[in-house]
Amino acid sequence: MNKTVQDRHVEIEGIPVRTDHFIGGERIASPTTFEVRSPLDWSWKLADVSRGDASTAARAVEAAQQGFETWSRMSPPERGRIMNNLADSIDANIEKIATIECLDMAMLLDSLRKRVIPRAARNFRAYADLAAEYQERTWCSNGTHNTVIRMPAGPAVVITPWNAPFMLSTWKCAPALAAGNSVILKPAEWSPLSLSLLADWINDAGFPPGTFNIVQGIGGELGQSLTGDPRVKRISFTGSPETARHIGHAAAENIVPFTAELGGKGALAVFADADIDAAAQKASSQFHDSGQVCLAGTRILVEESIRDDFLEKFTMYTGKQVQGDSRDMATTLSPAIHPDHLEKVEAFVNSARKNGDKIIFGGRRWKQDGLWYEPTLIEPKSNDSEVVQREIFGPVLTVQTFVDEAESISLANSTAYGLSGMVYTRDAAKAERIGRAIRAGTVWVNTFLVRDLTAPFGGMGISGIGREGGHYALEFHSDLKTLQILEGSVA
Ligand code: NAP
Ligand code: MG
Repeated sequence: MNKTVQDRHVEIEGIPVRTDHFIGGERIASPTTFEVRSPLDWSWKLADVSRGDASTAARAVEAAQQGFETWSRMSPPERGRIMNNLADSIDANIEKIATIECLDMAMLLDSLRKRVIPRAARNFRAYADLAAEYQERTWCSNGTHNTVIRMPAGPAVVITPWNAPFMLSTWKCAPALAAGNSVILKPAEWSPLSLSLLADWINDAGFPPGTFNIVQGIGGELGQSLTGDPRVKRISFTGSPETARHIGHAAAENIVPFTAELGGKGALAVFADADIDAAAQKASSQFHDSGQVCLAGTRILVEESIRDDFLEKFTMYTGKQVQGDSRDMATTLSPAIHPDHLEKVEAFVNSARKNGDKIIFGGRRWKQDGLWYEPTLIEPKSNDSEVVQREIFGPVLTVQTFVDEAESISLANSTAYGLSGMVYTRDAAKAERIGRAIRAGTVWVNTFLVRDLTAPFGGMGISGIGREGGHYALEFHSDLKTLQILEGSVA
């Protein structure tokens, strides 16, 4: 790995993007690169990005160890001030970040601008406040004065997936930093560019060198080297259950705590007493962002008596969706991130066809020269069908019916996942009953994606280990210590 005087950068739609690592407060280049293309037009190469290796990982961990020495000794309000400065830079650059992320992963530009990127700034602000508000617990018992002290743990590795990379990565880095840990972030290789931009504002915000490092590369190379380094004290991962198993092995080897936010197969249960129109509209919006949303309600469960009414409305709302360029305000359905991912989605639907599942609509590419897949609805032959049991992460939903509450709950809880659930009903008691019975980290009733950043967030079953959000993430990133002083022994 070489340090270059003039670092690698490109101009994308007039926005300069530096594509090397950010380690110890400096841009550092790798001799080799990987290519990043736009899902909006796969012939459009956006950038060559530094491809980190084992030496990059070692260098980043060393820098993070040095950064930790200074950062962990700063007071929570002082760290919070610096995190708020970074949030200010994000707020001042929303248009740039949204544009780059839209080109890189094809998320809808309008929602990036209005919702997703502003949330990234809020991630830092929320954790700046939470860490500063924290009160140590003190009490007397057994003749001793006790204090629970939350100590920063050390360098934390944060590894993130390609969907909504900027919002998700900041959501994971903010609590680590607020707790006093230094951070090494590795974004996904399919959408690394918006986080390359973030590195431009880290020094100006006031982070001491080595506190917040961003490295780029391939999971099985750079990611694996980072998670295997015994100097790393926390691993915070979001991605697929398959990768989580590798990460878990690495964490076990070094006896390091890790959290894993993984895939989902959320149920969206619609009861006969619900506002069927609102439910159908929300169900249809699960196709947005090409269904590449871990929390999406991809299994529609509808009470048998309203099936036809619901499906008529759902089909009508889906018919109003517009496929197209994600920069276009009229577009509601973006393309898949990558040709390999599109092939995966396609393979799920093709195998459903072979299995005898009924394709109600969709089931093919929208046009041959792009990465768009038609919004697809499948009525499975049985609850065991692969399209019901496995996360597809594409614009493919299933629909099944239930006859009573018990069946709705049993279907909702019938997969190995447990990330999210949605319930549509007007009955308050039923909302409580079903909401409590669904095994998932978050259940929304008559709404979707509303988030309070102080609430716990995570998955049950193969959807994850640990909880993010609020003080839950601060606890994860801290080593808790009990200090006991014999009463009357000191003055
Ligand atoms: P992935 O393949 O598991 O990759 C996630 C990250 O791990 C990437 O940065 C990847 O690098 C890296 N990685 C791969 N192998 C590794 C290894 N052996 N050691 C260390 N790091 C490694 O997941 P994805 O396809 O990017 O993302 C989609 C998945 O994420 C879906 O299952 C989705 O549901 C889930 N997700 C969950 C949440 C949540 O909050 N629960 C949120 C968003 C997404 P490369 O990019 O180089 O492969
Ligand atoms: Mg990309």
